[in-house]
Amino acid sequence: MGNIIDGKGIAAEIRAELKGRAAALRERGIAPCLAVVLAGDDPASLIYVRNKKRACEEIGILSREVTLPGDIEEDALIAEIQALNKDETVDAMLVQLPLPRHIDERRVLAEVAPEKDADGFHVVNAGLLFSGQKSVLPCTPAGCMELLRRAGTAFRGRHAVVVGRSNIVGKPMAMLLLNEHATVTVCHSRTKDLADFARSADILVAAVGRAGLITGDMIKPGAAVIDVGMNRLPDGKVVGDVDFASALPVAGAITPVPGGVGPMTIAMLMQNTIVACETRHG
Ligand code: NDP
Repeated sequence: MGNIIDGKGIAAEIRAELKGRAAALRERGIAPCLAVVLAGDDPASLIYVRNKKRACEEIGILSREVTLPGDIEEDALIAEIQALNKDETVDAMLVQLPLPRHIDERRVLAEVAPEKDADGFHVVNAGLLFSGQKSVLPCTPAGCMELLRRAGTAFRGRHAVVVGRSNIVGKPMAMLLLNEHATVTVCHSRTKDLADFARSADILVAAVGRAGLITGDMIKPGAAVIDVGMNRLPDGKVVGDVDFASALPVAGAITPVPGGVGPMTIAMLMQNTIVACETRHG
């Protein structure tokens, strides 16, 4: 269908472009490198790390896996991060979340050097984004913006509704839309009349984690709909927060799940790594 935004295809185009930039760096004798810190053996995290490693290989980024035991002490984990901060061969790093429960996630993430922060989760990067300055952008919202841009969405003066206010998706998404001069409303679990807000959106971003929360009757005809949600159903199928079947005939443009935002998140992670490397080497 013409109104489906092909996240998988767009992510592949971006990876191909990044491959060229990685090759250009290599010609200068520079090997872009992403370090991935994984503590413990959470099965979902292992899959995410493997996918990130695969994307690095495709593009020509070295991936350095730092695998640590699940019972590692917080200070020892921080020492690993500090060593990566100092390591001249590492351009960017990410700490795979969730961390084991005994570890203070915020304290650990604060140790990542902001310029090496591949995920854009550091409070310095969040603050720079908030104040409209250049920063490392969190991958998922950056990917959503890229999808909207490539779908030809106009932002200025349009009403954008973001459902979800997490630090990694909802809030930065709202900031990015605001920086593009959209009029932004953020909805969350305490919002009354979500359907009314959703229906007034020219741009609707769902980042909640509830299968089928947004139905076709909650969408303004012609709206651009970005579905960030990834919800696994009992039968193993993964679906978004938007009920795709009822939304598709109403939306002007819509991302599918899977094949929408997901592949863009990894593409943006790769982009953050290449940009960090290019910036470091001038
Ligand atoms: P969080 O659980 O951190 O945040 C969910 C947000 O949704 C909260 O702000 C919560 O409100 C809000 N919410 C919960 N229930 C409702 C409701 N009934 N109506 C309106 N708002 C509601 O999730 P994340 O932001 O980390 O992720 C959101 C979804 O996106 C998940 O499905 C996740 O798997 C997916 N995801 C996908 C990625 C991708 O690459 N495709 C990457 C990252 C996430 P409140 O703040 O009031 O609790």
